[in-house]
Amino acid sequence: MSAHELAAAIRAGERSARDVLDEHLATIEAREPQIHAFNLVLADEARAAAEAIDRRVAAGDDPGPLAGVPVALKDNLCTRGTPTTCSSRILEGWCPPYDATVVKRLRAAGAVIVGKTNLDEFAMGSSTENSAFGPTRNPHDETRVPGGSSGGSAAAVAAGFVPVALGSDTGGSIRQPAALCGVVGVKPTYGLVSRYGLVAFASSLDQIGPLTTTVADAALVLEVIAGHDPRDSTSIPEPVPALSAVLDHGVEGLRIGVVSELLGEGVAADVAARVHAAADALARAGATVEPVSVPAVTYGLSAYYLIAPAEASSNLARYDGVRYGPRVDGATTGEMMTATRTRGFGAEVKRRIMLGTYALSAGYYDAYYGKALRVRTLIGRDFAAAYERYDLLLSPTSPTTAFPLGDKTADPLSMYLSDVCTIPSNLAGHPAVSVPFGTGADGLPVGVQLLAPALHEATLFRAAAVLELAREETS
Ligand code: GLN
Repeated sequence: MSAHELAAAIRAGERSARDVLDEHLATIEAREPQIHAFNLVLADEARAAAEAIDRRVAAGDDPGPLAGVPVALKDNLCTRGTPTTCSSRILEGWCPPYDATVVKRLRAAGAVIVGKTNLDEFAMGSSTENSAFGPTRNPHDETRVPGGSSGGSAAAVAAGFVPVALGSDTGGSIRQPAALCGVVGVKPTYGLVSRYGLVAFASSLDQIGPLTTTVADAALVLEVIAGHDPRDSTSIPEPVPALSAVLDHGVEGLRIGVVSELLGEGVAADVAARVHAAADALARAGATVEPVSVPAVTYGLSAYYLIAPAEASSNLARYDGVRYGPRVDGATTGEMMTATRTRGFGAEVKRRIMLGTYALSAGYYDAYYGKALRVRTLIGRDFAAAYERYDLLLSPTSPTTAFPLGDKTADPLSMYLSDVCTIPSNLAGHPAVSVPFGTGADGLPVGVQLLAPALHEATLFRAAAVLELAREETS
């Protein structure tokens, strides 16, 4: 059942939140040992929260739009008094003293927090294999990865453990796992959702967003978590956009460009075929759909792998053995920090810190970081030019379907290429959604990506709803 259906039944007193939770906990118990979507399942806290919802309904109260809906949180979102690990040894045993703003808003809307999901360490990766606690497996094929870095959240939704999960997306970490697991994933406009309490990876790119089974659920959850927050200085002081209300508005008269550069070399033929099928479906629904060139997106990956590591190297300086997590002692403060960070961080995180430190170092700053920032500006400009003629853009979400575990771990570059289609909207700060649209040659889910200019989530959701309907009609 969708979050919409569950909340409606619970608010009407037709179902108890406790029963709904117990059903989901039973599903988790049955399959979690194979999938490993969670770092932590909070069964007792969730039962208490569900019972509190039931008491409120019995008393004639309305607990809110997500009343009794079980929700999973990526384990880089701070939860008060509950371990938040970022799937890293360096945060072992650390419990945040506060809830992230999104967590507060979910609780206030009646959601029941079921657990913390696995991720690539500090959200750096595309397969969830960089977790210090072992990989998550794809519920559609347990020999395959779920994508990453929000692989635990995507797998939890795909396996039916929860109808809703939150992830974070710095370069594709919500959309790419959503595509590989056959669920809906949204990266909102930068600044639409507060980052307060999201452990920072690359602050100018990070956004929190929902992973759900339906487009309507994604709209509902985004309406709950979006909105200005004075605790995040990049939060946009605008009212929350109305999304649920526009889902049935269709795409008649909309102009949609299919990004040529994101359908070229490296995109699997079966994935490209689904993107063309999605373009046809949008055209049948009344949109004008044409190919469009957005040249600078081809430089997105290179710019991202300077900007994101540069910001990460600065953000991760705080894990020094003094302020968080376990310490490895040394003769001097410097030796203590080195020993702590050597033991606490995994290989990919170390690679990013070194890359970022290099890109920012005196003498190289202009050649690397400065140049990447100029490319970022160029990408924004090329998008702006495309949006003069088109309301939305369409592309694959990921160049391939879910790949086998271990396939790309030895070759970081091939792993990085997983995000070639998703990174440009992070660099531009624009919203994008991945919608499941059929399967590839191997029978595994394919996601197609819709992109929009900043704060045009409503248009994005209209088109996503059309694709969801078209998929149901053809399957
Ligand atoms: N896979 C990309 C990376 O490794 C994006 C990660 C993300 O969006 N958090 O950096």
